[in-house]
Amino acid sequence: MPTILRVALDTPLRRPFDYLPATAPDTPLPGVGRRVRVPFGRRRLVGVVVAIADSSDVPTARLKPVLEVLDPQPLLDAASLAILEWAAQYYHHPIGQVLASALPRPLRLGAPAAASLRCWQLTAAGEAALAASEPRRAPRQRSLLELLCERGPATAADLDSHGGDWRPAARALSARGWISTEQVPAVSLPPPPASAIVRTAGPELLSEQAAAVEAIAASLGRFAAFVLHGITGSGKTEVYLRLIERVLQAGQRALVLVPEIGLTPQLLTRFRARFDAPMAVLHSALTDHERLLAWRDAFSGRARIVIGTRSAVFAPVPDLGVIVVDEEHDGSFKQHEGGFRYSARDLAVWRAQHAAVPVVLGSATPALETLHNAVAGRYRLLRLERRAARAALPLLKLVDLRQHAVQSGISTPALQAMQKHLAAGGQVLVFLNRRGYAPTLLCTACGWIAPCRECDARLTVHLAAGRLRCHHCGADAPLPPRCLQCGFSVKPVGQGTERIAETLAARFPDMPIARLDRDVVRQRGDLEELMRRMSSGEARILVGTQMVTKGHHFPDVTLVLVLNADQGLFSTDFRAPERLAQTIVQVAGRAGRGARAGEVLIQTEFPDHPLLTSLLTGGYDGFARAALEERAQAAWPPFSRLAALRDSAATPQAALAFLTAARALAGRPPAGVQLLGPVPAAMAKRAGRYHAQLLIESRARATLHRFLDEWLPEIEQLKSARTVRWTLDVDPIALF
Ligand SMILES: [Zn+2]
Ligand SMILES: [Zn+2]
Repeated sequence: MPTILRVALDTPLRRPFDYLPATAPDTPLPGVGRRVRVPFGRRRLVGVVVAIADSSDVPTARLKPVLEVLDPQPLLDAASLAILEWAAQYYHHPIGQVLASALPRPLRLGAPAAASLRCWQLTAAGEAALAASEPRRAPRQRSLLELLCERGPATAADLDSHGGDWRPAARALSARGWISTEQVPAVSLPPPPASAIVRTAGPELLSEQAAAVEAIAASLGRFAAFVLHGITGSGKTEVYLRLIERVLQAGQRALVLVPEIGLTPQLLTRFRARFDAPMAVLHSALTDHERLLAWRDAFSGRARIVIGTRSAVFAPVPDLGVIVVDEEHDGSFKQHEGGFRYSARDLAVWRAQHAAVPVVLGSATPALETLHNAVAGRYRLLRLERRAARAALPLLKLVDLRQHAVQSGISTPALQAMQKHLAAGGQVLVFLNRRGYAPTLLCTACGWIAPCRECDARLTVHLAAGRLRCHHCGADAPLPPRCLQCGFSVKPVGQGTERIAETLAARFPDMPIARLDRDVVRQRGDLEELMRRMSSGEARILVGTQMVTKGHHFPDVTLVLVLNADQGLFSTDFRAPERLAQTIVQVAGRAGRGARAGEVLIQTEFPDHPLLTSLLTGGYDGFARAALEERAQAAWPPFSRLAALRDSAATPQAALAFLTAARALAGRPPAGVQLLGPVPAAMAKRAGRYHAQLLIESRARATLHRFLDEWLPEIEQLKSARTVRWTLDVDPIALF
């Protein structure tokens, strides 16, 4: 019977491809998890062997042999393959593309998996020389020969550890042909001794923190999911650090996932200050080469802590002891671009289960799904309700915009509060989730509004840059001095962070202002500089977008202003209230983290809105209870399961036609599955294409997936499937 290799290749087809073993002599039979280079049509591709079979649906005569086996050891062990195969199945995405998105690009192109090290070793001539007691008059050369004979190939670091400058001797010996150098794969290095891992002891734990550490540590060595619900400033990171300390001391490794924006130098510094252990850091701003190096450090086991954003959930971590997902509610854990749309948080829980290790989901504002899992008893809820450093929780107040004078987006009570807090030496944080100068450019004569030609959206005014930009497609044009329709004068309408900073600079001329949004943080170093100005107290007012909510520590902020809470109160997306509540609580958490009590003012035109009142009276818990009840009544997740079939096309008709055909294929869907739509997206035209979506909903996860398993292959056969761009998003977190 022939041996058939099943190889996953980076193609849109859902199945692996069958190959025969290589014909060249001396080529080993590649086991599962190893990469091979194979002929594919006219191309040569690198793929991963995912199974070995003894028969194929394709006649053996038509199967081609693999060209080359790239890995001497499996690149993906059974655990890594299992999570990738599970993800392919759960997210209904081709296994080859799932594998590709989990591996650094150089590995997909065939780069070696292990870094190699230069090694010095004895040659046959060297052995003969040593046996003949050569060299007689060069003691250093002789002792180097003896050392290499005794211990075998040695790296520069090995030789350094024996003291003395061995390099001149090595040069002389190579010149005589007695030793040679070779690149050998760097293998897993022995861990540092447990006693040396902790560089500095942490602060004394509050009793709640200590209890959380003990509860989680009691589960080391088996699967358990914990929700660490800790208010801002309660010291969640310290709990992670203590757990990781125990894991490292047991000779195991830790995987830490953080949101895109949470992987700050401050956080890394804190980890490095605590542990004397190599770390691998993986995030989206790395170059291909940097990513490869970090991946190799994780793969070889050299890194004791692997810390990274979303895709780090696929990083190889031998002897994994714990997984931490910090700010687990953060939207960046969900991949929402491209074809493979996965939730790194959900995969982290699955991975922990498979690896039989505890997983910790930490947040001041846990996702409603996560809280629901805790209520249902699947996750264990641990609370941190006290703030470290004797700071009191800030006081939340609403400012009714209908009752007070508003100038340039800021109400009189808000200005008065700023005055008071600044005079008392506090810092003020002003939050507005809109970057740029103004969201609209309006003609004062004919009412023309500068539109994006490619999107159903207005262009945002960026005054300092002198540009009009679309925040949806990136369109960028010079700011016109006059109306493009009638030639009359134009004016910016509404507020963005750039304009608010300008207004406040005029109002508080002696107070240095810092602005934090994507326009000012463009390269590495910008954020650190802003943080430094803020935490040193040099800047007294900080105006910023969502970016200010993420984990930064500003001890002297005593007042937080939320300028516009109303976006999000009336959205068609059932998750919008959750996101708004999380944002408000996270921004509010920036106030009063030092010794001084904080105050939070939220400007709104809807002070009686149930979302705001539940938040004010019951805090995030109160809001979450009310919101979960609403979701239960409407049968939205987590009380049902959703998938979204989305597409985009050159015309609105084509976008709807594909989804209509897909819906028709389903006929009458099986009991328990509902199809909703298709409908055009809320912003139908984006970047010149028309978007639409069809929702698939079911009370039961298994029912939904059985349906998708049967339906998707049929959709792929539709003629229109090749003319539109379509994706399936399982557990979508944004509906549009
Ligand atoms: Zn005009
Ligand atoms: Zn646009």
